[in-house]
Amino acid sequence: QQTSPAQSEFYQAVEDVLESLEPILEQHPKYREQAIIARLVEPERQIMFRVPWLDDNGQVQVNKGYRIEFNSALGPYKGGLRFHPSVNGSIIKFLGFEQIFKNALTGLPIGGGKGGANFDPKGKSDAEIMRFCQSFMSELFRHIGPTTDVPAGDIGVGTRELGYLFGQYKRLANAFDGVLTGKGLGWGGSFVRKEATGFGCVYFANYMMADREEELDGKRCAVSGSGNVAIYTMEKLYELGAKPVTCSDSSGTIYHEAGIDLDLVKRLKEQQHERLEKYLETHSEASYTPREDYPQNGHQVWRYQVDLAFPCATQNEVTREDIECLLENGCLGIAEGANMPLTEAAFDAVQQSSIAYGPGKAANAGGVATSQLEMAQNASMQRWTFEQVDERLKQVMKNIYTDISQTADKYGKPRNLVLGANITGFKRVADAMLEQGLV
Ligand code: NDP
Repeated sequence: QQTSPAQSEFYQAVEDVLESLEPILEQHPKYREQAIIARLVEPERQIMFRVPWLDDNGQVQVNKGYRIEFNSALGPYKGGLRFHPSVNGSIIKFLGFEQIFKNALTGLPIGGGKGGANFDPKGKSDAEIMRFCQSFMSELFRHIGPTTDVPAGDIGVGTRELGYLFGQYKRLANAFDGVLTGKGLGWGGSFVRKEATGFGCVYFANYMMADREEELDGKRCAVSGSGNVAIYTMEKLYELGAKPVTCSDSSGTIYHEAGIDLDLVKRLKEQQHERLEKYLETHSEASYTPREDYPQNGHQVWRYQVDLAFPCATQNEVTREDIECLLENGCLGIAEGANMPLTEAAFDAVQQSSIAYGPGKAANAGGVATSQLEMAQNASMQRWTFEQVDERLKQVMKNIYTDISQTADKYGKPRNLVLGANITGFKRVADAMLEQGLV
């Protein structure tokens, strides 16, 4: 295969998956004969578009928009939209590729997709965010639909952005469809969707640690990020008796020995869209390390004595040196709220250790699973209670854990959840592709 240096994140994600598929490809020659891998790594459709918008000074700004409709073997394309200046074709492609397997693991009828723009929401006014979202949707609306492609949020896209995106879709399509998930509770959203990725990640960690006769109660936890996934990971950790002692944003890391003040983080991040450094104005006893002072080749957030680590910010945010530090400090497990948070070297170091490791495509699948529950509620014009949705989420996470650990056992690699997740997800998608013929 020819490679292109501009797709490094995509190749990293593909390599992680292909490495663990060897045993199933050996066992079942049909996948090779039918070129399933070559078909899987090629998106069904990629859309790139111009997003022009006016800033508050009346100046024209232009961003790049993307939607990758990667694989629809199991259902409509499903996956979030990311608005972040680092977004490019490689990042959207790696996220879309991961999404195929993650969605398959949920056991729900959803294919894989992803999208976004290299737009930076930081420092933008509400009116600028709205104008950007409206322009973005003015192109995207012709490619999506409740049975074709159903985007959701991701980094930089929360309830506010989804509201502006949905409003513009509705206006252009003249239809009140369940075409986006993560909608506001008053206009078609589902209970628990906001909390789902973080809650699901902690449920997953709980099953993973129970298998090693450990419980979350009393555990000290390092969490990175302070966005949607990090906040609801911390909330569920507290509910289960664990204590998050760190969180971070792209400017720095907070360490608070007494436990992170979650109400304060919610206020700073969800309401005020502030920097985390402001945490110190309320808690001078906590410590803040600005990004410039991070250790060489690593991140401060992983440099404390903790029992469990929850990377919940972004890709490649944990280095090999960070892993070495976590292992030296006696860390027992890592559950990934973020997508591909480990660098390649960190991933190899984890694979060679005996630490419990829940890869993102399994541990953070609760978000997309609950998105599918939102689609089901929209399609049937029903509304389930918080408890009903939470119960289903818990069950999905339990099934994922059970399925992938049984697959790992079956292939002679007990507790290797990477191999278990990749083979389980691959088999579901590959079999559907074979049954649907050469399309
Ligand atoms: P948010 O935008 O709500 O929060 C992202 C957090 O990560 C912020 O604290 C942000 O800090 C930090 N961050 C983002 N980029 C960087 C960077 N380059 N370096 C350091 N810190 C960074 O996003 P989410 O919480 O929704 O997403 C977090 C992760 O979880 C992503 O990997 C996403 O793909 C994954 N995920 C999300 C799901 C969801 O349902 N939302 C579902 C499954 C996975 P700052 O504010 O300073 O940028």
